[in-house]
Amino acid sequence: MMGALASIENLYAVMGHPIHHSRSPWIHEAFGRQSGMPIAYKAMDVPADQFESRVAGFLAEGGRGFNCTIPLKELAFRRADLLTDRAAKSGAVNTMKRLDDGLLLGDNTDGHGLRADLENNLRVSLECQRILVLGAGGAARGIIAPLLERHPAILHIANRTEGRACELAGMFEGEGNLSFSGLAELKGPYDLVLNATAASLYDTLPPLPDDLLADKGICYDLAYGSVPTPFVFWGNAHGARISCDGLGMLVEQAALAFELWLGFLPDTQPVIKALRETLSDSPH
Ligand code: NAP
Repeated sequence: MMGALASIENLYAVMGHPIHHSRSPWIHEAFGRQSGMPIAYKAMDVPADQFESRVAGFLAEGGRGFNCTIPLKELAFRRADLLTDRAAKSGAVNTMKRLDDGLLLGDNTDGHGLRADLENNLRVSLECQRILVLGAGGAARGIIAPLLERHPAILHIANRTEGRACELAGMFEGEGNLSFSGLAELKGPYDLVLNATAASLYDTLPPLPDDLLADKGICYDLAYGSVPTPFVFWGNAHGARISCDGLGMLVEQAALAFELWLGFLPDTQPVIKALRETLSDSPH
């Protein structure tokens, strides 16, 4: 069928729990209009224990691909029949594509989305920088390899549960100057501090020492919202040159997913700008 209506052949979704806050339907519908390939994209509330059955139901409905968010990325990694290199390296999948033969290809666009936001939108160089990643969950898994590819001076992973930081660092042993610790042992300075914990979702902040950030350092919270997160506030209060949230990453990782599904890489700039305006208009 021609025209502006999305057909069942273009059915996509984001699955996660909770999911009511997700802006992914808004973003992908904007990409669909931009590309001239309108898609139907729905948010599905899927707790971990329902993942298998809900994926089967979605595929039976004709779904062509889906994104996965908290807490499904590691389950999606295990469910994928095939993996892209970047998904295989991260051990987590945020984008699934149904191939013509029915197999599911798992990808992880989080790390490249983050890198696109830092390098292209914020003009931040990663090479030779002292980088700290707070957190060792699904999001942190996706960003380590793309950061290491830029040869930072140090990449340190600090997590509330130190064992998970140790396990994550172990996955990338020999691929760069990588270290790990618990949060209590953290000592600065770092040129770039990335908050990949879920603390902002609960309006809290991991405990951080005052000397964590280097002079003119950068703070980046992977979380985003209609108001600055506690970590963005922390960065501003500690003299960060840039202290921002992960809205740009959200749009960039979505653009890479859209490209995997439909072969069209959207222009992210107008979508980031419009999404920021929509968010600031929404009730806090
Ligand atoms: P996750 O797999 O549930 O991992 C959560 C991580 O946060 C764990 O390392 C956990 O530590 C830590 N944590 C949770 N509450 C904490 C607290 N109060 N203080 C300190 N650490 C805490 O979640 P995820 O998928 O990695 O997501 C993490 C964040 O990234 C979320 O805010 C999510 O919205 C954001 N994200 C954004 C994008 C984007 O495109 N902008 C993409 C992906 C994720 P323990 O191991 O000790 O439990």
